[in-house]
Amino acid sequence: MNAARTFLLILLLAGFPACRRAAQPVVRDTAAMDTYVTITVYDDLPAARVNAAIDSAFVEIRRIEGFASDYIDTSEIGRVNLMSGRDSLVISSELADLLRRSFAYGDSSGGAFDVTVGPLELLWNILAVRPRVPSPDSVHDALRLVGYRLVSLHGRTLYLPRKGMRLDLGAIGKGYAVDRAMDVLAGAGVTMAIVDMGGNLAVRWPGSRGWDSTVATISVRHPRTEGAFLGTFRYGSGGVSTSGDYERYFIAGGKRYHHIMDPATAPGVVSVTVVAPTAADADAISTTVFVLGRAKGMEFMQRTPGVDGFIVYEQGDSLGIDFSPGFRGRLR
Ligand code: AMP
Ligand code: MG
Repeated sequence: MNAARTFLLILLLAGFPACRRAAQPVVRDTAAMDTYVTITVYDDLPAARVNAAIDSAFVEIRRIEGFASDYIDTSEIGRVNLMSGRDSLVISSELADLLRRSFAYGDSSGGAFDVTVGPLELLWNILAVRPRVPSPDSVHDALRLVGYRLVSLHGRTLYLPRKGMRLDLGAIGKGYAVDRAMDVLAGAGVTMAIVDMGGNLAVRWPGSRGWDSTVATISVRHPRTEGAFLGTFRYGSGGVSTSGDYERYFIAGGKRYHHIMDPATAPGVVSVTVVAPTAADADAISTTVFVLGRAKGMEFMQRTPGVDGFIVYEQGDSLGIDFSPGFRGRLR
């Protein structure tokens, strides 16, 4: 595993008097999708039942990893990528839906969110042992293979028309997976839980939604000081996600190069934390806002219903933070 728990959200439930809560929540970890997953269940249920529910949720996460990961050649995405420029493939309706949802984010963000950034990710190879800044020519060549509007998706038939095109669901897959894992927990009778995958969170608590009712205290990692926190905020049922330039990066010539690719230009944002109705939305939107930068990113959050967040940026040697109106006064 090359990604440590790069971004950390710590959760402590404040709790609702009306809910029957276990004296000791059940907390279990596993590794998946190149990061760590922690599931915490607060229901007062027999331990065997809770553990079986968590087992099933882990299985669900592995199922999603199995079809949505571009780094597994035999996954559905892997097979689609191998067929680029050659032939179309019939994909599962679940993957088709997830791609349509991703393309919709591409549309609403004016192309900032683009799941065809795969060739750029490969070229930069941020996590290589000796990463290097690629030549402008090679970036130019890779950019020719980037653009979700090139993709043809009719029903379940998918075709990537240029050889070397690559789909990469890295910016939405984890959020989607924690949403589905939460569905599995819910189906097993769990009502109070948090699923956290590398800083993508799904929170479920009866009677709470977004800011309406705050149950979880979420600590946001400081983007520049290891082990320190930027602050905490409270949130109820929904999704939370952070995208940051400190997650996967290297520094060359005093400049930081990171894993979030801008299909157009490069704004100087450090990290973005977003809350949204689902974790998949939060995941996609944190990446989108990061790419859009301060002004357009803030505007994007404000016009997306149910979404709030904050943008951390560099200001000389210190950090500044822009809050969306709904987030103002909530980060302590
Ligand atoms: P996140 O950490 O959720 O912000 O997602 C970052 C990951 O999403 C990267 O590691 C890439 O796999 C992928 N990615 C990078 N840039 C973009 C982009 N502009 N649009 C969509 N996905 C991206
Ligand atoms: Mg994301």
